[in-house]
Amino acid sequence: MFKNLIGGEWVEGARVSRNINPSDTRDVVGEYAQADAEQARQAIAAAAMAQHAWGLSTPQQRFDILDAAGTEILARKAELGDLLAREEGKTLPEAIGEVARAGNIFKFFAGEALRLQGDVIPSVRPGVGVEVTREPVGVVGLITPWNFPIAIPAWKIAPALAFGNAVVLKPADLVPGSAWALADILHRAGLPAGVFNLVMGRGSEVGQVLLDDRRVHAISFTGSVATGQRIAQACVARMAKFQLEMGGKNPMVVLDDADLDVAVHAAVNSGFFSTGQRCTASSRLIVTQGIHDRFVDAMAKKMQSLKVDDARKAGTDIGPVVDEKQLAQDLEYMAIGKSEGARLVTGGDAIERNADGAPGYYMRPALFTETTAAMRINREEIFGPVVSVLRAKDYDEALAMANDTEFGLAAGIATTSLKHASHFKRHSQAGMVMVNLPTAGVDYHVPFGGRKGSSYGPREQGRYAAEFYTTVKTSYTQA
Ligand code: NAD
Repeated sequence: MFKNLIGGEWVEGARVSRNINPSDTRDVVGEYAQADAEQARQAIAAAAMAQHAWGLSTPQQRFDILDAAGTEILARKAELGDLLAREEGKTLPEAIGEVARAGNIFKFFAGEALRLQGDVIPSVRPGVGVEVTREPVGVVGLITPWNFPIAIPAWKIAPALAFGNAVVLKPADLVPGSAWALADILHRAGLPAGVFNLVMGRGSEVGQVLLDDRRVHAISFTGSVATGQRIAQACVARMAKFQLEMGGKNPMVVLDDADLDVAVHAAVNSGFFSTGQRCTASSRLIVTQGIHDRFVDAMAKKMQSLKVDDARKAGTDIGPVVDEKQLAQDLEYMAIGKSEGARLVTGGDAIERNADGAPGYYMRPALFTETTAAMRINREEIFGPVVSVLRAKDYDEALAMANDTEFGLAAGIATTSLKHASHFKRHSQAGMVMVNLPTAGVDYHVPFGGRKGSSYGPREQGRYAAEFYTTVKTSYTQA
């Protein structure tokens, strides 16, 4: 059984949860301890005890530990990628890529520990010096979703530790395996006891304790809008610092002058890879009328050639949906789309058994056309392999449609026009804009995040991560 890590010790939980492979539901990945509220409080107490000394550790100590963790993650990327694909259902190449990303993030933030800077500013008063420095925030609670089981924990843990904060991680209940492997690596990399704690368990129980306990100074959350709103309210109520990364309804605009192959590649990748279960997935393709029919035909042809099968099998393009509940939600949106009058061009049906007869949560990628902006399938995040096409008169209408959403995480455009590409980058109301590229798939050393209903608080990743994981102090000295 895989245990929780509290105060440097591996401890049994109050319950046990079975981690199931969505590609073959007969396969149990492992049994994982589930913490209860009391254990969550013990983890917070351990982090609080460790905080002071860790906050005073040298940048060299933090560099060495984070760099060693990054090195081990990269060295084991094939094995950890296999575990990730097995528990989450993204394909093996995607999973190995995610693990490599996690390793690179640790290496990047190892360097950031050395590069943390402040300012020395002349005072407006004679004989006075002003220094602006950054200090740790304190104990941080990290709450993560299931769709990036190692990369999202990594992009929260690495900056938290790099800047001297003690951590309590509560990973998603569905995918504890990758988070456990990461905890094991960090534990062995030489972190002092209590600096990093892992509490696997329910959001409503373990997560809630992190939100309500005053010893937790900051919460970084990635997940759904509904949970994010609950987290915001709890943090505001006790004035804790918080950061939220939530859903998306990301548009990709395809203009008449687009290179058709580039547009189809970007749209298929954004919409369906990782089974459409990426917050940066494009679920709305906004296509101008001159290319609309050619684009839809090419999309359908490409989609029908994609192989939906076991995530770990060579040649699989799309693995299963993560679990039964998410599959039911995807199928419900298929029914909603049809009832709203959208035309189903291809896909959208569940496949109960893969090519080898194994039972899993498979679904063929779906494309709706003749959709309108008001339809629920164009307003609500589905989080599955379901994409709609919206027809636009011209670029101006396409831009307006792209921005007509409560979300603002990522947006893309396929065009050969510099004028339209430049205008779109300037006027898209999204945190990340891609030109002739999939909306999903981002670099690990630059800021990640959105606007409007998608994100709240400072950006994650890259140098911008210091905004959340440090607090600024201004000191005045009379010489
Ligand atoms: P979720 O909101 O159901 O769960 C996220 C985490 O919150 C889990 O660890 C869960 O246990 C925990 N949680 C649930 N209730 C809680 C509570 N009351 N208190 C504290 N914690 C609680 O989301 P999910 O289904 O795991 O993930 C899918 C969602 O994540 C999608 O909406 C997707 O768009 C979003 N997502 C966003 C980004 C981004 O960066 N914007 C990245 C990946 C996923």
